Amino acid sequence: MKKILIIGAGFAGMSALSKLCAYKKDLDITLIEQSKKASFLPLLPDVLGRGLDSVYLSVDLESLSRNMNFKFIRAKTEK
Ligand SMILES: Cc1cc2nc3c(=O)[nH]c(=O)nc-3n(C[C@H](O)[C@H](O)[C@H](O)COP(=O)(O)OP(=O)(O)OC[C@H]3O[C@@H](n4cnc5c(N)ncnc54)[C@H](O)[C@@H]3O)c2cc1C
Repeated sequence: MKKILIIGAGFAGMSALSKLCAYKKDLDITLIEQSKKASFLPLLPDVLGRGLDSVYLSVDLESLSRNMNFKFIRAKTEK
């Protein structure tokens, strides 16, 4: 089983995560993110200006990891 480490749950990290989780081969995927949620900031103006429910702004990574079958570690990496 191949091991994959993704650091950061921004656009890049979440895009890689969703594609790799959809990939059918066995992968052992770990996501490291300093926040407990992944945010989708392009919707921020709609939440502030148009009354869109703020629930659409972020997703809880612990819950997502259970649903999408990857490991989530909440931590900040160091250079
Ligand atoms: C209000 C707003 C609206 C936007 N609208 C658009 C739009 O409509 N279209 C568009 O193309 N772009 C838009 N952008 C820009 C877009 O959000 C960024 O280009 C994009 O987020 C960059 O993605 P990224 O994954 O490279 O980095 P980021 O989104 O910055 O994600 C980095 C992630 O890594 C985590 N992280 C960082 N350092 C560490 C560490 N040391 N250890 C662990 N975790 C770490 C951070 O917490 C973060 O979750 C918008 C930005 C804002 C603020």
